[in-house]
Amino acid sequence: MQASPGEEPVIDRKARMKIPFEDLKARPVDERVKDFEPTFIQLTPEEARRAAERCIHCPDPAPCFKACLVHNNIPAAMWLIEQGDFIGAAEIYRQTSSMPEICGRVCPHEALCQGACPRDKRGEPVITGALEAFVTEYQRRHSNVEIPVGAPTGKRVAIVGSGPAGLSCAEQLVQKGHSVTIYEAAPALGGLLLYGIPNFKLPKEVVQWTIGDLERAGVSFITNTRIGESKTIDDLFKEGYQAVFVGVGTLVDAKMDVPGVDLPGVYQATEFLIRANVDPDYLPSDMGTKPEVGRRVAVIGGGDTASDCLRSALRLGAEDVTCLYRRTEAEMPGGKKDRELAREEGANYRFLTQPIRYIAGPSGRVSAVECLQCELGELDDSGRRRPIPIEDSNFTVEADTVILALGYWPDPIIGETTAGLETHKWGLIVADPDTGSTSRPGVFAGGDAVTGPDLVATAMIAGRKAAAAIDEYLSEE
Ligand SMILES: Cc1cc2nc3c(=O)[nH]c(=O)nc-3n(C[C@H](O)[C@H](O)[C@H](O)COP(=O)(O)OP(=O)(O)OC[C@H]3O[C@@H](n4cnc5c(N)ncnc54)[C@H](O)[C@@H]3O)c2cc1C
Repeated sequence: MQASPGEEPVIDRKARMKIPFEDLKARPVDERVKDFEPTFIQLTPEEARRAAERCIHCPDPAPCFKACLVHNNIPAAMWLIEQGDFIGAAEIYRQTSSMPEICGRVCPHEALCQGACPRDKRGEPVITGALEAFVTEYQRRHSNVEIPVGAPTGKRVAIVGSGPAGLSCAEQLVQKGHSVTIYEAAPALGGLLLYGIPNFKLPKEVVQWTIGDLERAGVSFITNTRIGESKTIDDLFKEGYQAVFVGVGTLVDAKMDVPGVDLPGVYQATEFLIRANVDPDYLPSDMGTKPEVGRRVAVIGGGDTASDCLRSALRLGAEDVTCLYRRTEAEMPGGKKDRELAREEGANYRFLTQPIRYIAGPSGRVSAVECLQCELGELDDSGRRRPIPIEDSNFTVEADTVILALGYWPDPIIGETTAGLETHKWGLIVADPDTGSTSRPGVFAGGDAVTGPDLVATAMIAGRKAAAAIDEYLSEE
């Protein structure tokens, strides 16, 4: 097994295989669709121990360890959890992850660590994600989490963007003793952790824990400052920063160029999710009210954002909520687990459906979506079969509200205002995947701004890798 501290455990795999599977419990559907509180009920210490005892400690390197994007030493954590050493287990996660309480909740575990567990063959994996969330929350409630701050180096680093990439980069840099300031365009910190992922998946309190750790470690935050607008990256260097990390994500909603897209009642996913989920205190005054969704809602798109919109619409009181997607379920980019939860809560799916027009009702607000039926053709650049609309197959879907969850593009402002910074034609920043270094010396980048929309864990990894490269760069300067 993966180097469990202390004594060498004796693992009776046969006995462990007989320990029954207990899944993480969700709140009853009719209760949870009435609010935005977390979907799942946190494990009890006893449940956590029983769940960890089901780990059969596969030969090293364990499949869960290999599948974990940050290579958390999951078997070692499982061993400590079954001994009841929850804080010791939490520390194992903190060795390799900058935000384990967040990854424990939002990583697509079914496709990563849990999906690699040999017990998943029967659909009964060790619930590694829930256990990561449990022990790291337990540590918060029963002990302290302190980032070990390094001896001051006198070097200053500016981080642009406070999403998981920027926050993780900061967490690593303060450990090396560098002085870090995060510049954030929004009024509050956290990027999509706060403004995208709904509270029923990731409670805002959990995001605040990570930000609080950084504040106590001496990281400075400057909000409401969009770099490229009021000041540029060149200005940051002139102010005395010796390196800059850019983790600005991809926050511009992809547009749909069809008639009626500007009708009242047609929302972009970002605005809809922000207004539905985020406390008005964190929002500009024109976004402080909840969207009025009416009875029927259509969500266009097939990713995680679409699932979050479906589930948010149900929580806002919509009775008939349908996802319209132009391919089939097999091609959907979003996680299966989120779709299962959305279905359980009442969402419907209509596949091979391409919206071509939004139709206004008598009040001028959207009242229906005109669609074409599609069939699947050849593989396209994304490796998925291309949807081909069938001529004269028009039909309408009634909708009081339409939410467009079509993906995201980067804001081009950083590329446009930073001389010598190479970007792709779509605006993503060109950066080395191992170091985050860009074409501009001293400027590093990572997360969605480099890869396009991806995951919290991949953004976190990019921030950590860039921090190591920035530390090396500063020590050579
Ligand atoms: C609705 C939704 C649900 C998701 N659910 C999941 C999930 O369940 N699991 C998962 O792993 N991933 C999920 N993701 C993806 C995940 O949130 C992102 O991949 C991740 O947040 C990217 O991190 P980042 O740090 O690169 O960027 P972001 O989180 O986007 O943060 C970028 C930050 O930079 C700021 N910024 C932008 N431009 C500037 C500028 N010029 N100056 C200063 N600040 C600037 C932005 O305001 C923002 O705060 C979801 C995404 C969405 C949209």
